[in-house]
Amino acid sequence: MSLVNKKTRPKMLNEASLKGRRGYLPPLSDVPPTTAESLIPSAYRRQTPLNLPELSEMEVTRHFSALAQRSFGVDQGFYPLGSCTMKYNPKFLETLPRLAGLQDLHPLQDESQLQGALAIIDLAEKIFTAITGMDAFTLQPAAGAHGELTGMLILKAALKDRGEADRDLILIPDSAHGTNPASAALAGFQVQKIPSTEAGIIEPEALKPYLTPRVAGLMLTNPNTLGLFEEHIREITQLVHQIGGEVYYDGANLNAIMGWARPGDMGFDLVHLNLHKTFATPHGGGGPGSGPLGVKAHLAPYLPIPRVITTGEGYRWDYNRPRSIGKVKGFWGHFAVIIKALAYILQLGFTGLQQVSADAVLAANYLQTLLKEDYHLPYDRTCMHEFVLSGLKDNPAGVRTLDLAKALLDYGVHPPTIYFPLIVNEALMIEPTESVTLNLLDSFVVTMKELAAKAKADPEKLKEAPYTTPVRRLNETEAARHPILRW
Ligand SMILES: *Cc1c(COP(=O)(O)O)cnc(C)c1O
Repeated sequence: MSLVNKKTRPKMLNEASLKGRRGYLPPLSDVPPTTAESLIPSAYRRQTPLNLPELSEMEVTRHFSALAQRSFGVDQGFYPLGSCTMKYNPKFLETLPRLAGLQDLHPLQDESQLQGALAIIDLAEKIFTAITGMDAFTLQPAAGAHGELTGMLILKAALKDRGEADRDLILIPDSAHGTNPASAALAGFQVQKIPSTEAGIIEPEALKPYLTPRVAGLMLTNPNTLGLFEEHIREITQLVHQIGGEVYYDGANLNAIMGWARPGDMGFDLVHLNLHKTFATPHGGGGPGSGPLGVKAHLAPYLPIPRVITTGEGYRWDYNRPRSIGKVKGFWGHFAVIIKALAYILQLGFTGLQQVSADAVLAANYLQTLLKEDYHLPYDRTCMHEFVLSGLKDNPAGVRTLDLAKALLDYGVHPPTIYFPLIVNEALMIEPTESVTLNLLDSFVVTMKELAAKAKADPEKLKEAPYTTPVRRLNETEAARHPILRW
């Protein structure tokens, strides 16, 4: 019998333990046991034996395989988690960092033996520069938020050099991702929130009152987290530049505009990318992530060291950058992730990247058009790669977005992002990505319409969902405050 039943909690390995059961018997050590013991003073030795479970190899394998089947990811089903760009990650890419010539490298090897790796880093930097319209890139940051922090530290250093350290304010729209204000604050800036208009974007007139001499810069996501393109972007970046500020582009979700528009051309001075969103490398537990940061030429001297440069004899690491903010990550950043992202880009080519963005936008607009029949669409405009609904339209029983999200679990769909952005009541933020089929989009629409019908026919049942998951609805506050991580 499996140790893990779909419906009940998995048995812990020590509950299944049977005295004397073994998996693997290593050969007996030929070092006399007293030798090891005599080397370690008794104060540092374990006094009581460890209570380890005793199991066969097969039992352990099945235990962990069954647990793995309980987790949900992009390989299991639809994952329209807005702002997270949960696209499918081609498996082919996983084989590339494992090629012996790459996998067996050590970052402390002599540069002469690392020419291929340095060429990969140099090429990736050049390609990101071209895609975004910036002048230079660093691949060191480990994730999107880390790219933001690196950018804010660069801005801080540049202001200090200019004798403008008293510029201490970063402007951030109220629809922004939470990492934006966090990164600005961590770098020592104050944060000023800018209200979006009824159209869900930033209007130059609404921005003007905030443009004081204290402003160091503006952080903006475009398209913003409502999935809307900031159509006044050129005017906005000009206004900020006029008062001596810099403009930061949060490019986590560049798959909305890749190959169609470039942050550099919109007037941005800094931009980070999320390779684990836009460029098809895994997120979270399957990561690690990577958040390269690009800058315009006037900020390039501040980029983290070392920088790859080319000399007559090939590629070399350059540490001689007196204005650099220093290192932000060990060695070269997440090199394996960069290899995968670069291969993805080279495989698609420029027109392929354009197609990615076109398909991501098309899929989102397809869903938006069909779902707005049953759900509130507060900003009813053509969207980019995602859109935000505001709960059910016809909803006498007060079914909440949380209830809908929980009910989706019974359909094998990962719920959209909920209650974000904060400016939308009962928000449901949906991002299908380009890697969906039309059938999948249609079946999601059917599911969402079925939920809308159930919300009217039997709302109480919906409020108790989910029914088929290993655990039912959790008290989320309790679970976050007092997690039970073992039993
Ligand atoms: C995901 C995301 C981030 C943060 O990226 P991490 O890699 O999770 O640190 C920042 N901004 C936006 C718009 C995002 O979607």
